[in-house]
Amino acid sequence: MDRHDPTRMQAIDNAWPEADALVYDAGVKARTDHLYEKVKSVVTPMEWPLHAPLIDAINRLKVERDAVILAHNYMTADIFHTVGDIMGDSLKLAQEAAKTEARVIVQAGVHFMAETAKILSPEKTVLIPDERAGCSLAASITGANVGAIREAYPDYPIVTYVNTSAEVKAYSDICCTSSNAVQVVEAIAAEWNTDTVILIPDEYLAKNVASQTGIRILTWKGSCEVHEQFTVEDIEALRAAHPEAMIITHPECPPDVLKAADFAGSTGAMAAYVKDHQPQTAILITECSMSDNVAVENPGVNFVKPCNLCPHMKRITLRGIYEALRDMKHEVHVDPLIAERAKASVDAMLALPSLGKPPAFDTSKPAVSIPYVSV
Ligand code: SF4
Repeated sequence: MDRHDPTRMQAIDNAWPEADALVYDAGVKARTDHLYEKVKSVVTPMEWPLHAPLIDAINRLKVERDAVILAHNYMTADIFHTVGDIMGDSLKLAQEAAKTEARVIVQAGVHFMAETAKILSPEKTVLIPDERAGCSLAASITGANVGAIREAYPDYPIVTYVNTSAEVKAYSDICCTSSNAVQVVEAIAAEWNTDTVILIPDEYLAKNVASQTGIRILTWKGSCEVHEQFTVEDIEALRAAHPEAMIITHPECPPDVLKAADFAGSTGAMAAYVKDHQPQTAILITECSMSDNVAVENPGVNFVKPCNLCPHMKRITLRGIYEALRDMKHEVHVDPLIAERAKASVDAMLALPSLGKPPAFDTSKPAVSIPYVSV
């Protein structure tokens, strides 16, 4: 039978209500034991019987629906390591969303990520398990704001972080992620033959990028509600309590936090750093779940977890993924005209040469103060 045949999909729809019993029986146990082996260092034996029936149901539904799950590094380990097909940071998820041949994409991440998947794969059905999964950065700026910035500063290219709505991307010249922000800023400055670039909406990412490049940067007053909470005092207290630890930060943190750390980079760069250096103890200054996900792959490293949870990422649960796939619900739509313009900004980013391993921010470089664009 054709995988995309609507009668086949109806047959699946009719069969699945029975699975709602979702009990941890011998069959589920046999089919999921190998997955528990993977996550047993971060998921307790008491929790597993609650997760396993949902994991089993999701993995069976994925095959029947011809779906892939894109799992961001901030998903809990029970999602990331047991149902995720493509896992990583925003850049990797965007690149893979553009390549997948599956009919359905489930975004285990926040809404702007699902929009990016839809922009890159308009012919596919993109689902988000919880439509309330937003982002403080995405909420900080609108397309109209970017339009006004364009009017006020017509001579400067506008780079927008991918943590923005499709509309904001549509008004931009190129997108960036925390992996490639320095590369993107330098490339667009060369293309426009300018010494000044507008990098929005994250003021801390913009300041951290400004410290790495000779390009003059203007920014917007947006921030990530998770990373902005970390302070130098936090880093100093952690350093005093764990002098042997490598302190690893994300560039959405304030610049003085990066300067106090041993390493800074995107979530992909953070994970790669731990893998390559195998420190005795690692402290990841970022969203809580990232430490568990990296710990699963680095059993020899001890993780200290200063925890800031992202309330938006934590809206994505196994139950939500299961119900989204079962009912094919919470489909993400993007206006075709906006999608076309937004895609040009994302494609401009994806067309830049691959960086291979995500690069580090040099934390020894002096912090830079930069102006805000005002409209
Ligand atoms: S961690 Fe920060 S940037 Fe990421 S989704 Fe949450 S609020 Fe947005």
